[in-house]
Amino acid sequence: MDFELSKEQLDIQKAAREFAQGEFRDIARDCDVSEEFPRSLLEKAGDLGFIGVFIDEEYGGAGLGFLEHALILEEFWKVDPGIGQELCSVSFGAEEFLLFGTKDQKNKYLPLITRGRAIMGFAITEPDSGSDTLSASTSAVFDGNEYVINGNKVMIGNGSIADFLLVFCLTEPEETTRSQRHSILVVETDREGYESDKIEGKMGLRASDTANVFFSDVKVPEENLVGERGKGFPQLMQFFDRSRAYVAAHGVGLAQGALDLAIKHVKTREQFGQKIASFQATQFKIAEMSTRVELARTLTHKACWMIDNGRLDTKTVAMAKWSASRTAVEVVDEALQLHGGYGYMNDHDVERFYRAAKVLEIYEGTKEIEKIIIARYVLGRY
Ligand SMILES: Cc1cc2nc3c(=O)[nH]c(=O)nc-3n(C[C@H](O)[C@H](O)[C@H](O)COP(=O)(O)OP(=O)(O)OC[C@H]3O[C@@H](n4cnc5c(N)ncnc54)[C@H](O)[C@@H]3O)c2cc1C
Repeated sequence: MDFELSKEQLDIQKAAREFAQGEFRDIARDCDVSEEFPRSLLEKAGDLGFIGVFIDEEYGGAGLGFLEHALILEEFWKVDPGIGQELCSVSFGAEEFLLFGTKDQKNKYLPLITRGRAIMGFAITEPDSGSDTLSASTSAVFDGNEYVINGNKVMIGNGSIADFLLVFCLTEPEETTRSQRHSILVVETDREGYESDKIEGKMGLRASDTANVFFSDVKVPEENLVGERGKGFPQLMQFFDRSRAYVAAHGVGLAQGALDLAIKHVKTREQFGQKIASFQATQFKIAEMSTRVELARTLTHKACWMIDNGRLDTKTVAMAKWSASRTAVEVVDEALQLHGGYGYMNDHDVERFYRAAKVLEIYEGTKEIEKIIIARYVLGRY
């Protein structure tokens, strides 16, 4: 058993750390307040090869794995979850092209993404279809040579800034097997009938874009079908098996970033004539936080390693996602506590981290859904 990262992985980690520390720190608070992030930063990240490193080299990626993707995202989220989220979500769904897309689709969409010159997203959630993705009713009717899409999706990452979105659509409403009713279509957002409404004032991750999106008779050609007709649901599950592993890395990064802020604070803040780090109550908190982060990191790296080594394991991915999200929420709570009242003010970074954490237990599968998956594998049939 080898727990060491390779020299190449350590170099990637270091480069991502330096990039985040150099580029995010000074703008993070402003991006949170303005609820925007500079497109030039995305282009820079693309030029330096930080976007979608799991994408094959022939499509502009680095041809690396999800572990390397996770290492980069961990470093980004450590410095700022909002910008970290945006630089991850720009390639959100690219896995569908890699796994199921045609050569033409890969050539058309992926190089733009990896270079940071286009933004994508994945529109799945609807007003009446959240955890129960199979109830999605946004329809795509095939009329000979094109699909006509009608419906609306909510809380979609990059909905108001994306160049194209993958859209989870109902194409076979008559099919008796529920899991064979949907298909995934790629929709360019400049098509007639597409509209978006940016959601302002979400709790955290404000540097990243989230919007409600609407499709009124949006027409896309037949070749915009990604994968097979009626296979959208199993394709979506294969995407989640990968994306949840690196969303776990978001949690690890956020928790480590919050822990680092807490360590810095307790070593400088004095009360009762001594550093608050000298109180055993503080030391116990720091010990527990550090241990939890390390546990979440180990499980996350294992889940990613298994994917990269042809041993993808849905249960381990769900465990990593649930555990890292819980860790982030608990660790950032203690980190803010250690800051006292200052932690509640937005001139202290920990306040932004605190607001960002909660969503990790909601998107990409709520914590309850992750536990349902884990239990299904552990208990089996009974
Ligand atoms: C910041 C942000 C960004 C997002 N980005 C995207 C995006 O890019 N694309 C996208 O498609 N969606 C996105 N979402 C939506 C997100 O994926 C959904 O919010 C999530 O899947 C949960 O769906 P819901 O909100 O409808 O909650 P519901 O499914 O209504 O769940 C409500 C509660 O009921 C629980 N529950 C539901 N079913 C069960 C069950 N069977 N057993 C036990 N408990 C259950 C849930 O765990 C939860 O606690 C985003 C959300 C946020 C907040």
